[in-house]
Amino acid sequence: MKFGGTSVANVDRIRNAARHVKREIDAGHEVAVVVSAMSGKTNELVGWCEEASATYDNSEYDAIVASGELVTAGLLAIVLKDLGLNARSWQGWQIPLLTDDAHGSARIAGIDGGKVIDGFASRQIAVVAGFQGLHARTGRVTTLGRGGSDTSAVALAAAIQADRCDIYTDVDGVYTSDPRIVHRARRLDRVTFEEMLEMASLGAKVLQVRSVEVAMVHKVKLVVRSSFDDPADPKPGTLIGDEEDILEQQVVTGIAFSRDEAQLTLRRVADKPGVAAAIFMPLAEANINVDMIIQVVSDDTTTTDITFTVPTAEYARAKAILEERRASINYATLQGAQDVVKVSAIGIGMRSHSGVAAKAFKALSEKGINIRAITTSEIKFSVLIDEAYTELAVRTLHSLYGLDGAA
Ligand code: ASP
Ligand code: MG
Repeated sequence: MKFGGTSVANVDRIRNAARHVKREIDAGHEVAVVVSAMSGKTNELVGWCEEASATYDNSEYDAIVASGELVTAGLLAIVLKDLGLNARSWQGWQIPLLTDDAHGSARIAGIDGGKVIDGFASRQIAVVAGFQGLHARTGRVTTLGRGGSDTSAVALAAAIQADRCDIYTDVDGVYTSDPRIVHRARRLDRVTFEEMLEMASLGAKVLQVRSVEVAMVHKVKLVVRSSFDDPADPKPGTLIGDEEDILEQQVVTGIAFSRDEAQLTLRRVADKPGVAAAIFMPLAEANINVDMIIQVVSDDTTTTDITFTVPTAEYARAKAILEERRASINYATLQGAQDVVKVSAIGIGMRSHSGVAAKAFKALSEKGINIRAITTSEIKFSVLIDEAYTELAVRTLHSLYGLDGAA
């Protein structure tokens, strides 16, 4: 069981989380729990680091931000004991959950589930601080990147071969789209790992992307559900599993969107071997993630236009890198836009249906929405459009693919 920040926001909420745990114990299950920090706590800790120094040391950042989860793990163990249960808290290094040394966004290298499993013999509930690990050689505390306690939970579930990993949050499952934008969005009963991975990568914020990757590789069944449900009578949530577990299939499962996109266009680039490398290698070396790429096939074959997108936060850096290399890349002008949004439709059914994206292009054009760029893969397509049309585009696609629930 994993409880996110809003589910442990204060001692009352932690008591409520404990009731959910007790229900599972009373049903005869062996339970390990992973907790986030109280909501807002990690932001506060990050803020203090920034206040301390603009050039803070990343390993000290990790020592500081990992502390939020230590508090909630201890508090949950206390209230579980008050309910008459056997429980103890664990810090990441005590498990240990081992990671690499990429402080601030470390990757898990291995988890020893042994101590947690040993505790089950005396019906002891392990309450594990999420988000954190240990780099073995340096002996330093690491953190897994924002939202990382989802990944802690899935990885621990894999390590102890749990039947399920229930992710308790403040929504009652995964929705067909963001309910704040699409009022007729519906909760999905079941989603495949691949669909969830796309949805999380394309803007749905319910799970950390990496946690879904780990779940998919280790086949850990996930359930996204709400801690705000009555602990005595919880709703089922959304099951994320293998394709075999998911029976009825819609062509499109969900519509995601991300405002965190910026577009760059190089006009009249020399059209010869090596130009794409000349543009994208320096960006890659600067760790800038390029997403959509469009290269126009020119008819005179001497110059071409290249358009691509980067995360908004990287826009200025990407632009500066390209401006510096204007002579060596050899382009006429560099244009950019930050008021763009990427809208995506995801569905495993796209593999076996043709014309799914074409329908969307038509529907968007009928609403007067211009498409700046398109990308597709086996189970999704994305369009880049003007940000002003976000709501209209998302709602249009949501209706188009029959996802609208009762108003
Ligand atoms: N507390 C951490 C964060 O806010 C990790 C998490 O909650 O998943 O990013
Ligand atoms: Mg989270």
